Amino acid sequence: MPQKQRKRVLVPSLSGMHDILPQDQGYYRKFQEIAEKLSSLYNFQRIDTPVLERAELFIKGTGAITDIVQKEMYTFRTKGGDWVALRPEGTPPVVRAYLEHGMISWIQPVKLYYFGPFFRHESPQAGRYREFRQFGLEVIGEKDPSVDVEVIALSYNIVSKVGIKKLIVEINSIGCKKCHSRFKKNLVRYLEKRQIGLCQNCRQRIKSNPLRLLDCKEEKCQLLIQTAPQIIDYLCQECHNHFKNVLEYLEEIRIPYNLNPYLVRGLDYYNRTVFEIIEEGDKKKTTLVGGGRYDGLVKIFSRRDIPGCGSAIGVERVLNKLKSEEVKTEQEKPQIFLAQIGELAKKKSLKILEDLRKANIKAEGALGKSNLKSQLSIADKLGIKIVLILGQKEVIENRILVRDMKRGQQDLVRIENLIPKIKKFIKKLK
Ligand code: AMP
Repeated sequence: MPQKQRKRVLVPSLSGMHDILPQDQGYYRKFQEIAEKLSSLYNFQRIDTPVLERAELFIKGTGAITDIVQKEMYTFRTKGGDWVALRPEGTPPVVRAYLEHGMISWIQPVKLYYFGPFFRHESPQAGRYREFRQFGLEVIGEKDPSVDVEVIALSYNIVSKVGIKKLIVEINSIGCKKCHSRFKKNLVRYLEKRQIGLCQNCRQRIKSNPLRLLDCKEEKCQLLIQTAPQIIDYLCQECHNHFKNVLEYLEEIRIPYNLNPYLVRGLDYYNRTVFEIIEEGDKKKTTLVGGGRYDGLVKIFSRRDIPGCGSAIGVERVLNKLKSEEVKTEQEKPQIFLAQIGELAKKKSLKILEDLRKANIKAEGALGKSNLKSQLSIADKLGIKIVLILGQKEVIENRILVRDMKRGQQDLVRIENLIPKIKKFIKKLK
């Protein structure tokens, strides 16, 4: 009896995770080139940390009662018994690396950038993924407000240079622990009187984390927040001066900002300056960049009291905007196509293609095809301007036909002269 044929079913990608297809690679490449070049001009150095870390790093660093850790972190136990997490954000790993590699003894501040994937089990929607890329900046070891401004300026300039021209920095200061105690008391008093008007989540947060309530996106909460006490009125003298300097420096370098007294950001470690960068006039207020100061974070993992400040650019969010605004990126086309006819020519073509690539010439062939017409049609579809044609006769005579597809001219060239000839040709075409 014939064996029953098994049904083949595609195993799809996971929800919220996506492939980056060849036609989109240009956007990512352009982003990375610009971001790395600018970061290097500001004297930031690249760091790569592992995708997997001990879960404890984020529980202690990001904060046990943040949404990222409570609801969104991918965690599992390894066969060796370690409790690990797919990194949901980049700051705690960079701080860990700073301490673990003795960067305390480097010239301070240490200025680092990273680029890579991050994972959060959020409900997927436009611009919100479960795997996404961030380009992050971290400056560790300097408390001066000029550092906050450098981080903001570099983030702003990267996104702007990539192609989103009208940006605005939403900025606030959430002060320090000293400022919080008086503010929290008044905020809780205000909120308790209006509990009925708050969403379920926020009602629970009034006591545990009232500051985070200011971040709630629910409309009814937003309405109440608009008349709530503002942290900025409760800043201690030091925090007040720090923030005043940040704003003055931003004005000095002409970075446009909007003072947003209710911006708090969702992570525990932030203090003083917090900011987001959005596109001006964006009704949805899509956050392209988020960041702030984290002066207490190093102290959670060591006895050292070392300040820090950083930001993270949501790469997909920036690129989605570019695509929706139809900012095109060029896909790099091959410069040469080699068509061959016959077994002998096919074999020789392999060597010629290798030599072209060794000479840094981007070359393509279709060695699986034997018909000249179909090969020329591929070259045409790829938009290649120079086609080489090699037949049995040419191989025996050690020559190759070089055809300029634009002008319709062709030349018979000795194979040993091919590369210099092609290089000249390419120069002429530019
Ligand atoms: P955060 O680490 O939450 O401060 O986020 C920094 C930036 O990363 C945000 O401004 C977003 O642009 C981006 N981002 C955060 N979460 C996601 C997500 N789930 N999907 C895509 N981008 C994200």
